Amino acid sequence: MAKAKYVYQFGGGVAQTSVTSKDILGGKGAGLMEMTKIGLPVPAGFTIGIPACEEYYKAKRKLPKAIVDEIKIALAKLEKTVGKKLGDPKDPLLVSVRSGAARSMPGMLETILNLGLNDKSVEGLAARTGNPRFAYDSYRRFIQMYSTTAMGLSKEPMEEMLSDMKKRLGAKNDTELKAEDLKKLCDEFKVFYKSKKGQAFPQDPVEQLWGAIDAVFDSWEADKSVTYRRVEKITDLKGTAVNVVQMVFGNKGDTSGTGVCFTRDPNTGENVFYGDCLINAQGEDVVAGIRTPLKLIELETKLPKAYKQLTQVRKILEKNFKEMQDLEFTIEDEKLYMLQCRTGKRLPSAAFKIAVDMVKEGLITKAEAITRITPEQIEGVFYPIIDVASVGSAKLRELKIAQGIDAVPGSAAGKLAFNAADAEEMTKKGVKVILIRRETSPEDVGGMFAAQGILTATGGKTSHAAVVARGWGKCCVVGCEALDIDDKAKTVKVGGKFLKQGDEVTLNGSTGEVFMSSLPLKQPEQTKEFKTLLGWCDEIRRLKVYTNADTPRDAQKAVELGAEGIGLCRTEHMFFKDFKVPANSEKRQLAIQEMIIADDVEARKKALAKLLPFQREDFKGIFEAMDGKPVTIRLIDPPLHEFTPKDDAGVQKLSKVTGMSPEHIRLRCDQLHESNPMIGHRGCRLCITYPEILEMQVTAIIEAAVECEKAGVKVHPEIEIPVTIDRKEIKILADQARAVADPILKKANSKVHYLVGTMIETPRAALLADEIAEVTEFFSFGTNDMTQLTLGLSRDDAGRFLPDYVLTEKEGGKAIFAQDPFVSIDQSGVGQLLKMAIEKGRATRKDLKISICGEHGGEAKSVKFCHALGMDAVSCSPFRVPIARLAAAQAVIEDKLAASKPKPRTARKSATGRTAAEKRVGVTAKRPAVAKAATKRTPRAAAKAAVGRKAGTGKTPAKRAVSRKAK
Ligand code: PEP
Ligand code: MG
Repeated sequence: MAKAKYVYQFGGGVAQTSVTSKDILGGKGAGLMEMTKIGLPVPAGFTIGIPACEEYYKAKRKLPKAIVDEIKIALAKLEKTVGKKLGDPKDPLLVSVRSGAARSMPGMLETILNLGLNDKSVEGLAARTGNPRFAYDSYRRFIQMYSTTAMGLSKEPMEEMLSDMKKRLGAKNDTELKAEDLKKLCDEFKVFYKSKKGQAFPQDPVEQLWGAIDAVFDSWEADKSVTYRRVEKITDLKGTAVNVVQMVFGNKGDTSGTGVCFTRDPNTGENVFYGDCLINAQGEDVVAGIRTPLKLIELETKLPKAYKQLTQVRKILEKNFKEMQDLEFTIEDEKLYMLQCRTGKRLPSAAFKIAVDMVKEGLITKAEAITRITPEQIEGVFYPIIDVASVGSAKLRELKIAQGIDAVPGSAAGKLAFNAADAEEMTKKGVKVILIRRETSPEDVGGMFAAQGILTATGGKTSHAAVVARGWGKCCVVGCEALDIDDKAKTVKVGGKFLKQGDEVTLNGSTGEVFMSSLPLKQPEQTKEFKTLLGWCDEIRRLKVYTNADTPRDAQKAVELGAEGIGLCRTEHMFFKDFKVPANSEKRQLAIQEMIIADDVEARKKALAKLLPFQREDFKGIFEAMDGKPVTIRLIDPPLHEFTPKDDAGVQKLSKVTGMSPEHIRLRCDQLHESNPMIGHRGCRLCITYPEILEMQVTAIIEAAVECEKAGVKVHPEIEIPVTIDRKEIKILADQARAVADPILKKANSKVHYLVGTMIETPRAALLADEIAEVTEFFSFGTNDMTQLTLGLSRDDAGRFLPDYVLTEKEGGKAIFAQDPFVSIDQSGVGQLLKMAIEKGRATRKDLKISICGEHGGEAKSVKFCHALGMDAVSCSPFRVPIARLAAAQAVIEDKLAASKPKPRTARKSATGRTAAEKRVGVTAKRPAVAKAATKRTPRAAAKAAVGRKAGTGKTPAKRAVSRKAK
């Protein structure tokens, strides 16, 4: 007989397969197999593997004959092992038919219990067990489940029939129904079934089995499952397995029961046994919540023997899987059976506690602990979330009015404010505000800062609103196209609703959802284990992690979160808001506007002189906050018209300050207007035309540095010139920057050392990186602009159509990109430019410092890619610093794992674990040649040594940190 290819048997203490992969057996199947192997009490059964599900769909929802034959053989073996036959009228074998994907999808896939019962075998079961109540309870459950999951009837009518009967008989709980009642209920169900399906309820147990297997496979493609996988970003799974397992019964009476438990508390991570159980019940009763369950600990007094056994199982399983387990068990006549074990889901803060505790207990290594944490869990530790438990999921669905793009995670609730001034005004009065705008501009920054959350009708994940909000860790939903905003009337029409200023809404920035009314929020906490685990990440990562911060407050926050410097300070963000003395904000705005509309150099210089002291103070604040850490300050970038007054009142104010007529100011504003400002007169092009802007900014930077130095604060300024396209262009500006800086330093007899570098944001700059490196000391990749210029997609409004490119065909898209390229680096396109620019840049200047400061610098997959390319650092908004620290550490661990994997001769390349795109770009899991200089400078040996080492190795974190700092 050919070896089974799709079906895997277990039972009688033996698992007849060496296959352990969850990708084949599914999580449940793998758990059952493993528990059988280590001698735990598992009922016999077989797993129809995930490849069978793939074949089922290939054959247009039909099981191919080869698989049918294997299942028949497996069923025969199961019957032999347990000594009973499916549907035997005297002593029937009953089975459960349960789903099991490689990753848990709670409640999404189908399960059918008590299969094998029919009008005859139910009598046999009653006689054999001497318990007709139990037999008919099992039968009515089976009819209910089979009718709804396999035969497509809706759940409610049968549920109603059950509760009507309870009402009629005055029964509170199902357990109060007697055998005759349940038998009657079965008859009612069958009559109802026939009325709906036009034929009798299936009596042939084998036919029931095929129907149940199909139902489980079909549930894989049900809408709710597809949506769940998309929301959870688990779109790479191939299908579900089906587990056919001998039924054991928790509903046999008071010495039986069932429960669901976790080996540790999934809410707190505490090392305590946690769960619910029910006496005289079947598994779905616990999950469905139809009876109030007992606390697990109560089992100790009710069924002490089984409880003791269960606590032993808990220990054995944690030791075996070295992970917190989610268990399902049944006790039949005081005998314990394990029905499921899988990695348990947990709250984000609990994930850190469990990982750190397990290292301390010697169960796992630090490296394993680090790889278990996800970026989402880090986000979950920072941002407030909607308290779904207190609102209720159904209510939440009802309150949803729109869907936008999830720009910055977390949730925010408050009253709508339709412009920035109102948002500030309302906040001053103590009102919590959600700022709603068609789009935001730098002018809105005060209102954005004041608001709890930001909602825009246009824009993508790197639009102004998203970038600014991300910097503050402020909940933000953009590109919510359904919003029909009337700015003047201060109203919005959305989803059939009409809202006005002051009406309450709640945003979920993690999903892009917008809800009516102010919903309760929960604030998670950062535990000490969170800090411990990130400390371990710092011990092993090679990449440095900097932050994008424009204010001392943000810089301080970023340092608290582990930033080692500022990789991008966008100076233009300082022009509109004085964060230290808010009353000065207007003076700043007027000074920049005066500079912009100036007709000649003299007028411009006069205006710039007003800005200089503001900028100097800003830089001093930032240098002080960073206290010796490198600070990269970018010279002005956006096109000037972004700063011009937008309304009449603004024009009048400016007219007063400058003495120009309002008409002339309007004329100048019109002259400055550009059709496509993102590729217009911006970035270093501005300083080519108006060198006095550069002069003012460099003066402010260097004077601030000198003042700090005098006050004993160490400073490492890095002057960064944005959006360059040519060597000569950048040389003119770099020379000018030095010509401004050096005399100031000389005059002050200062020892401040500064660098002049550039952002590589245009494809031409990447192509000519070798030439550009001749005149610059560092590169920072501005991948927001690089992405829009390489792909030719506007970062501000590509969000309108990018979903069509990213969603799968089933979700209504075309799946052209696996991910939004503004979120995760387009490795095959933009990635090639980055790689080339690094190679060319370092070929010219070996010690060229290279980093990334686009939004990708805080996205885990992109961080790993930057590590593989051999960059020195990533820079991201303060709240994403911990994500970058984690991803940088995981990248080192993944390198090590790839290097330690045996490399079969024929498949050497695939053993590196690289993605297809990485292969195309030529990234190796080892550091590429271009990165060797950096490797030498980095104590990778110490880093490597930390990987794979368990706690208590004798080398203290402090020692490791010192060796890392040697760089
Ligand atoms: C970039 O383009 O990636 C960048 C960091 O600059 P900005 O987002 O300010 O254009
Ligand atoms: Mg840019």
